[in-house]
Amino acid sequence: MKINFNQLDRAYNKFKSEYDSAVLEVLESGWYILGEKLERFEKEFSEFIGSKYCVGLNSGLDALILAFRALGIKEGDEVIVPANTYIASVLGVTENGATPVLIEPDEYKNIDVSKIEEKINSRTKAILVVHLYGQSANMNEIKTLADKYKLFLVEDCAQSHGSKFDGLVTGNWGDIGCFSFYPTKNIGAFGDAGAIVTNNSDLYQKINMLRNYGSKQKYHNEILGVNSRLDEIQAALLSVKLSHYKDLRKERQSIAEYYLNHIDNPLIELPKIRTGSEHVWHLFVVRSNERDRLQEYLADNQIGTGIHYPIPPHLSEAYSYLNHNSGDFPITESYAKHSLSLPLYEGMTKDEIKYVIEVINKFR
Ligand SMILES: *Cc1c(COP(=O)(O)O)cnc(C)c1O
Repeated sequence: MKINFNQLDRAYNKFKSEYDSAVLEVLESGWYILGEKLERFEKEFSEFIGSKYCVGLNSGLDALILAFRALGIKEGDEVIVPANTYIASVLGVTENGATPVLIEPDEYKNIDVSKIEEKINSRTKAILVVHLYGQSANMNEIKTLADKYKLFLVEDCAQSHGSKFDGLVTGNWGDIGCFSFYPTKNIGAFGDAGAIVTNNSDLYQKINMLRNYGSKQKYHNEILGVNSRLDEIQAALLSVKLSHYKDLRKERQSIAEYYLNHIDNPLIELPKIRTGSEHVWHLFVVRSNERDRLQEYLADNQIGTGIHYPIPPHLSEAYSYLNHNSGDFPITESYAKHSLSLPLYEGMTKDEIKYVIEVINKFR
């Protein structure tokens, strides 16, 4: 049996006729940018998150960049960022000229709250949390810290659509929540797409302008903006995906539970669940001291896996100017060496899930 790490055509085929007619409707409407499909999706998505506002954008990275821009983060400012994350989280900060101050993760792979306070100084302006793999960070304590030092709080929710901490949906804890709808994300478009959510009407207005050349009214450019508009076709497709997300989420949950209950191998450590956190299982990431050998073994048995992420941002060539060395963030570096993501996607069959477990349990 051959099992890819991801299999996006299954997600498409599941609701093919709905996706097809959503696209056709836009094509036939003659209106492709900033129209009623986007307005509808923004309304639906903010209702889903429980936020007052949503602005559809081109990508998750744009959401992060424009979030910090709207907050006035600039050169000379410092932003607290998790060291254990995808590089996009850090780029959102550095694209605005600000300096990322990296913090090691806790045992749940998210930013370790106990290590934040010692890094706060007069230049610190914001904290960025990333709800990595779909499990929310320790938000009560982070929110308390942000409030105590009057720092902006931004959430990178690219992997945590609908996940909650203490009953509150991620994206609502801070000033701005940033989402990606990259095709493999829990709510995935069929191309690049992203959004921000916020409960602050000034930030909403500002990001609404920033995404459209800094204008509210055509040709009246009030601020320096960019072009980052979520197009009508992707918005229409996302409305279809969102309408089924309740079930899609259950499907991910049940695959994850099956893995949790049946993977049984002393060489493999299963993901840990934080009390109070709801996991939406964007990724199912196991840990093994024999990670590379495990990945090869699975590949030999036709099972695709992923590594999220093999090179932490501080060791990437792009950030060599931050002057970090190997050994600066040992926990992050250890996760990079020992993490392996197993296949978990919409439309994965029971036989496929069972096969993965059977093969993994035989690894020696
Ligand atoms: C995917 C992802 C992003 C970037 O989203 P894009 O839509 O690909 O730009 C940002 N942060 C995290 C944690 C992600 O997983």
